[in-house]
Amino acid sequence: MTTRTETDWIVSDSRHLWHPYSSIDSGLPVFPVESASGVRIRLADGRELIDGMSSWWSAIHGYNHPVLNEAVRDQLSRMAHVMFGGLTHRPAAELGQRLIDLTPAALQTVFFADSGSVSVEVALKMAIQYWHSQGLPKKQRFLTIRQGYHGDTFGAMSVCDPDTGMHSLFSSILAKQHFVDAPLSRFGEPCDEADIAKLEHRLSKVGKEIAAVILEPIVQGAGGMRFYSADYLKRARELCDQYQVLLIFDEIATGFGRTGRLFACKHAGVTPDIMCLGKAMTGGYMTLAATLTTTAVSGAIASGEPGLFMHGPTFMASPLACATALASLQLLLDSPWQERVERISRELAAGLSACRDMPHVADVRVLGAIGVVELSKPVDMKSIQPKFVDAGVWVRPFGKLVYLMPPYIISSEDLGFLTRAVTDVVGGLS
Ligand SMILES: *Cc1c(COP(=O)(O)O)cnc(C)c1O
Repeated sequence: MTTRTETDWIVSDSRHLWHPYSSIDSGLPVFPVESASGVRIRLADGRELIDGMSSWWSAIHGYNHPVLNEAVRDQLSRMAHVMFGGLTHRPAAELGQRLIDLTPAALQTVFFADSGSVSVEVALKMAIQYWHSQGLPKKQRFLTIRQGYHGDTFGAMSVCDPDTGMHSLFSSILAKQHFVDAPLSRFGEPCDEADIAKLEHRLSKVGKEIAAVILEPIVQGAGGMRFYSADYLKRARELCDQYQVLLIFDEIATGFGRTGRLFACKHAGVTPDIMCLGKAMTGGYMTLAATLTTTAVSGAIASGEPGLFMHGPTFMASPLACATALASLQLLLDSPWQERVERISRELAAGLSACRDMPHVADVRVLGAIGVVELSKPVDMKSIQPKFVDAGVWVRPFGKLVYLMPPYIISSEDLGFLTRAVTDVVGGLS
């Protein structure tokens, strides 16, 4: 039953609120949520949806988790927030230590940012300040591969795919960066020489003005859900060293186990100079991101001009978010997450395989707890979204991609329900 007041706020939302990549009164459906628990999202009308999205990679333990709830309450009883300028607190220090212990050994310093996009801005600024300190202030541009996505702020937008990156409208005001084709070599394959030749060719031409190469390792997320060769990352690392360019890994989507390794760079055994983390860090509870770097970079910034790193958000290292992230990490490490991700991987592959033979499906691919059905043409969001809700699942396609990345705690039964719903809805599109 929908009460009068519930209807009121829903109308107010549609008239006054922007949602991600939306317009006011767009006519696109938004579904009011009453609560969420485990892998179930309960709508205001009483329907329950099985979650296939983890709220965009983040809710890896499911919703309303007692351990995370307790961590929030416990921190709240001390303080929700204090400024990080001149003050510090245990949750930030302990979380920083934890991240350093879990990520590649050379990464030793942590900057806490308030969202993924901001952590990318911070990474770009670190790279520029590093080269400035080395007497190479001309190194201010970035090189990346097409079909990437790194966030929605201006610096981050400048390194998103220039055509499909949703930001072409702003192209004349965005910093001009360098792009090469994304590798065609798939995950699990060696890197084709033609792929790496493109990167090498561009570095040899413009390396002198490049501060860093920025990549989403292994999985290109919102730019196309592509999985590529780990070998490419090894070769990219060698080229960056050869041409005196830093390497930034944006692990905002891939971090914390999603690809089957704790961080995607571990598939390649490659250490970046700078690494961005976000999304799943607090288990989906609140926004928090981090930019990690080496002592070589942090030390050079300290010894250069002006001797400080020039960034400092108001809500830097929010104690509430840091305490939740610590609890979420502990929960992850105490769980058999690797087995869970492997099981999800097998069940996604089996459950989505029926889509492979559909004439309007271009590709079906699975890596870790990510399952993708790529169609041959873009879906109509207005019609497909209610179909998924009617089928009892929360799946949010974009463009030609219908994809699943469920919470790691999902049961085989619920995952089977999800993959059947995707197969049915996609099958009904032909
Ligand atoms: C989501 C995402 C971002 C941006 O993070 P926000 O928290 O949305 O600002 C950046 N890079 C990658 C790879 C992402 O998936």
